[in-house]
Amino acid sequence: MQTLPIKSVEYEHPQDGGSCTARAWARTPATPTPAERTELRERIKRLLKEREAVLVAHYYVDADLQDLAEETGGCVSDSLEMARFGRDHAAKTLVVAGVRFMGETAKILSPEKRILMPDLDATCSLDLGCPADEFTAFCDAHPDRTVVVYANTSAAVKARADWMVTSSIGLDIVAHLHAQGKKILWAPDKHLGSYIQKQTGADMLLWQGSCLVHDEFKGIELDLLKAEYPNAKVLVHPESPANVVALADVVGSTSQMIQAAVESEADTFIVATDNGILHKMRAAAPGKTFIEAPTAGNSATCKSCAHCPWMAMNGLQNLADVLENMGNEIHVDPAVGQAAVKSINRMLDFAAAKKAKVQPSADLAKEAALFSGVGPA
Ligand code: SF4
Repeated sequence: MQTLPIKSVEYEHPQDGGSCTARAWARTPATPTPAERTELRERIKRLLKEREAVLVAHYYVDADLQDLAEETGGCVSDSLEMARFGRDHAAKTLVVAGVRFMGETAKILSPEKRILMPDLDATCSLDLGCPADEFTAFCDAHPDRTVVVYANTSAAVKARADWMVTSSIGLDIVAHLHAQGKKILWAPDKHLGSYIQKQTGADMLLWQGSCLVHDEFKGIELDLLKAEYPNAKVLVHPESPANVVALADVVGSTSQMIQAAVESEADTFIVATDNGILHKMRAAAPGKTFIEAPTAGNSATCKSCAHCPWMAMNGLQNLADVLENMGNEIHVDPAVGQAAVKSINRMLDFAAAKKAKVQPSADLAKEAALFSGVGPA
């Protein structure tokens, strides 16, 4: 078996009210030659059919995997839609191209299905920075609070939560709980938590984790870039720091950012999220110009450079291998899954009720309430 280069990755691990830098790793798949790429794409299409499997991919993974998902009747989406699509699809085998918590969520929602992933070691700094035992102790110390966790967490953390949310629906759910007089314990993303806290005025106690991609967008450099492109609209994912969110024209989830790019009359956009999304944005809004928001400059050099090292672990070769061998299966302890599914289903039920109330509109201004909400990674 081919040995792939290993990258060392720094992330924030919240501890005792503070934070320390911890280290993880990611391996990078080799880039196939054009001939290998063509062969792998055809092999994956054939194997998906033979195995009666469906490919569910995140917007941040390799463009070829996104295209294959769409060409073969799968789905390319954010974490909320990936979970819904996988649950509702008739296929008995789902191949999830993303990071581990996405595979676990698919398994929790569809325990009878076989969930495979190209690389089971593809993780997430938010998940790593919120270990279940430490999080349980935090919850136990604050029993008066309703526990709301972001999708980017392990099955065990979801099992301890009252609600799981994605960034597209988190703001609405917290506003709903706040209106009921509930105090919130939020984990793990501190930037998203503090954005929601500001928007809703809810009493929120925040776990101090962060996404290593979004945490690196730089406010000062973004301001300079805006001056260079005065007509550009700035699209920002709310896992970004507050000084970056403050410069946004639209704050939203990945799906909401794509929708904004399509519906806006502007023709140039500065995009503050993982650069994997640009493939879908360019396809959805052809002729428009998309510029990556800065992750380096006077204030620092980038570590992730706007691309998640774990999303990058999904490649054509390991996708083909997993379909060939039917390996890399995700397992979730059934007891943990049964506890976690309650928090996920609360969100899905809430989202379904909300969707039923929202009238579709092509007018961006009328959708302002949606875009000022928040969306999933
Ligand atoms: S982009 Fe950030 S939130 Fe998404 S998987 Fe990577 S580290 Fe986690």
